[in-house]
Amino acid sequence: MISKILVPTDGSETAKKAAKYAVELAGQIGASAILVSVIDKTLFASQSVPSIAAPTHLIEPIEDYLRQVAEACLDDVERLCEKKGVKSKKVVRRGHPVEEIVKEAERSKADLIVMGSHGKSALKMAVLGSVTFGVIHKDTKAPVLVVRR
Ligand code: ATP
Ligand code: MN
Repeated sequence: MISKILVPTDGSETAKKAAKYAVELAGQIGASAILVSVIDKTLFASQSVPSIAAPTHLIEPIEDYLRQVAEACLDDVERLCEKKGVKSKKVVRRGHPVEEIVKEAERSKADLIVMGSHGKSALKMAVLGSVTFGVIHKDTKAPVLVVRR
């Protein structure tokens, strides 16, 4: 019933915990894993950073760096997959995390999404991070499994 698990990660401790859970589960049921990390474009597009104050020659190195960080997060989970004999695929996207996660879930025909309750934000009091909240409230076909921090 579950043959493909989507594992979104932002490199946070909770996302790592969720990824570990997802990989263990995938190993047990013989599913494969799609590892996805989204470079949050909204960070650049915010009103507090007008485009004139963020010219391309400044944005590009930041984006390159963020891409490297995203790749590194996925490499960690990929290694875990290899250890557990789980087939995996890495996907780096750029855009709004909720939109891109949901789009990737549909594109890759994931049967389950496993993600953390929280991420990198300093807002530790929030009941649920906004990315997870957003994914749950989108009309996704796949059920969402939330791993607590
Ligand atoms: P917020 O971002 O709302 O201030 P937060 O950072 O604590 O709060 P979320 O961003 O919702 O919480 O993170 C919850 C989970 O969503 C993470 O554990 C991770 O699985 C996933 N996630 C968050 N951001 C991304 C991202 N950019 N790419 C992929 N997955 C992400
Ligand atoms: Mn976040």
